[in-house]
Amino acid sequence: MARYANVIVDISHEKLDKTFQYAIPEDIAADIHVGVQVDIPFGSRTISGYVVELTDIPEYDVSKIKPLIGIKAGSVPMESKLITLAGWIKRNYGSTMNQALKTVIPIKKKTKEIRKRTIYLKLNEIQAREKLALFEAKHQTARARLLRELIDQNELDYSVVTSKLNISVAVIKALEEQGIITVSDEKSFRNPVKHLQSKGYNLVLNENQRMVVDSIMKDINDGCHNTYLIKGVTGSGKTEVYMELIANVLAKGQQAIVLIPEIALTYQTVMRFYNRFGDRVSIINSRLSQGERYDQFERAKTGDIDIMIGPRSALFTPFPNLGLIIIDEEHENSYKSESVPRYHAREVAIEYARMNNASVVLGSATPSVDSYYNAKNGKYKLLELNQRVEEKPLPDCEVIDLRQELKNGNRSILSERLQELMEDRLKKGQQTMLFINRRGMSGFMSCRACGYVVKCPHCDVSLSQHNNGRMVCHYCGYEEPVPVVCPSCGSKYISGFKAGTQKIEQMVQNRFPTARILRMDFDTTRTKDSYEKILQAFSNREADILIGTQMIVKGHDFPNVTLVGVLAADMSLHVSDFHSAERTFELLTQAVGRAGRGREPGQAVIQTYDPDNFSIETARKQDYEAFYSQEIEYRQMLFYPPVWNLLVIHIQSVNQNSNDIAAEKLALCCDELIKNLDERVQLVGPADAVVSRVNDVYRKVIYIKTKEYDTLVDIKDNIEKYVKDNPLYKNVSVQFDFNPTSGF
Ligand code: ADP
Ligand code: ZN
Ligand code: ZN
Repeated sequence: MARYANVIVDISHEKLDKTFQYAIPEDIAADIHVGVQVDIPFGSRTISGYVVELTDIPEYDVSKIKPLIGIKAGSVPMESKLITLAGWIKRNYGSTMNQALKTVIPIKKKTKEIRKRTIYLKLNEIQAREKLALFEAKHQTARARLLRELIDQNELDYSVVTSKLNISVAVIKALEEQGIITVSDEKSFRNPVKHLQSKGYNLVLNENQRMVVDSIMKDINDGCHNTYLIKGVTGSGKTEVYMELIANVLAKGQQAIVLIPEIALTYQTVMRFYNRFGDRVSIINSRLSQGERYDQFERAKTGDIDIMIGPRSALFTPFPNLGLIIIDEEHENSYKSESVPRYHAREVAIEYARMNNASVVLGSATPSVDSYYNAKNGKYKLLELNQRVEEKPLPDCEVIDLRQELKNGNRSILSERLQELMEDRLKKGQQTMLFINRRGMSGFMSCRACGYVVKCPHCDVSLSQHNNGRMVCHYCGYEEPVPVVCPSCGSKYISGFKAGTQKIEQMVQNRFPTARILRMDFDTTRTKDSYEKILQAFSNREADILIGTQMIVKGHDFPNVTLVGVLAADMSLHVSDFHSAERTFELLTQAVGRAGRGREPGQAVIQTYDPDNFSIETARKQDYEAFYSQEIEYRQMLFYPPVWNLLVIHIQSVNQNSNDIAAEKLALCCDELIKNLDERVQLVGPADAVVSRVNDVYRKVIYIKTKEYDTLVDIKDNIEKYVKDNPLYKNVSVQFDFNPTSGF
């Protein structure tokens, strides 16, 4: 048992680094763990703090370390739970306690934020004029002035009222309390539906949806808390199921967190939740400032809201009585953090739910292989929605062999069949979506004479051609002009290898000169709100064709889209990652699922150079089971996750030589650790990372695979000890990634 406890006394993001060390009295040592709130002597006072770390190493003169007084009496506050969770994250993913704490605890606002607030008149004109007469009679001039202005304008900017009308905050408060006005916050989606009060909800769940809701609610009402996986085809009504579950949980006086990938967190989605739950809902997204995020978390803590919707980080919302966590599109990569601690929101949600006696609901049309494996093994409960609402059929899907097209003399990026169908849609006034699989397709330039590829001088990757006539490195941002002749052999046959979205737009426009085309990719969505604007325009039928990257396949409902074309489906198969088949299947299935969500049935065309590939074939049939059974066989054969667990150790340094030595030594250390184990372990490396140099930092990796996750955690702990204070690792960073989902 540890002898010392490191305690923080102030839970604000900036002060997390500041811990104080206390000795742990032996008689209570068994009850002291990370997250416990304790009383401590602090100067001449007794105050309380939270234990964030246990250690045997004294930080200063032992005789000066005071013992802590004891465990603080009373209920366990929210902070305790989050700190305990941080401890769990640190242990299971590898990071410092500080990095873990900063992940779960929001940053307190430092600066006064600027908000656009608006004052609305709640009364109708007759009522308002009666009030006005009353204020005038009482000579309450400020109140009268504000009301007069509001009768005129109906709504006023808050800052205009306080500065221009010279009305004090107290007056505004008074009118608000009397129910004459409301003050609303425009930013942060707080109330985007100005006049829309919760109108009452009258959608009736169908039988399948009802069954899913009932079986989860039965468990919850019996006090059983599980993880559920809802596997439901696109358009099967999962979102309605989530909302029904939330309504039930709210009725029990509990709160809910809904995780949605940022890219799917559109106005459309948000509105559905607002329409049902009004302003009990709050949204966070990455565009909020730290202060605004902090504010939203405070509102959750004080009971101002019951539902938090947001991407990964919304998981750490400090609700006092959390009942349910929903993770929509659970297969999405964005649930895995790309920086230390590299946690997966799904796993952390399950742990956090366990701590809170809450339940977790995962949902997807194409569950991750990991989750489906867990569902099959009984770790999660599997629930299915196999039919689209109102029994709309899934789109009819064809695969076109691009090699055959070329043989037939068609050199266009659009196959004959796809052109024919697009023509038909244009005639009928229906919409088409063209999806470009950009994963693994970098738009690089190569020389057709000598094979030279234009690469970044700082990173081991090819540069991508951009429309501004420059070559850009996507890892470090390096740019150079597009070469006119080959830098290696001087040949002028140097050219871009694959067409980018913009080029494709031009080609489609040339083929269909009268068609109205919208394009959505990294370049067109760089400015704030442009993403929403494009979606909105397409939704309003301001365009016939939407061309885009994976951005366009996520969770949007365009009822008038009856044709989806996937231009080159196999590009993502050539990424060096054991998830490539899974990603390809998932992208294609989601893309195909965009067609026929309205009254007319949908059609999809998948163009590929590799029509026999099983992920393309199973996506065509929209057959998840067939895909899964082949894929899991492959994982089993090679001991990949989820069958075994995989730890990737990243070793990085600006000094190539130091990095090589550090990686070698670390591999030897791992070898030693593994020798003493009873179970089977596979060790690979050190090897160059897939991208072996980024921004002049050299990167090596070591892979360790074994069945038990905890074995990997032990190995990680030992490596941390080995690296700590070891001079070999002074300028070398060692980081851990458990069961990586991409880019390793
Ligand atoms: P998913 O989340 O599985 O893609 P949604 O919940 O978005 O599915 O439902 C698809 C569409 O069907 C939405 O427009 C939704 O409002 C509608 N819908 C869902 N459930 C029902 C129902 N029981 N009755 C009528 N319409 C429904
Ligand atoms: Zn050349
Ligand atoms: Zn670079």
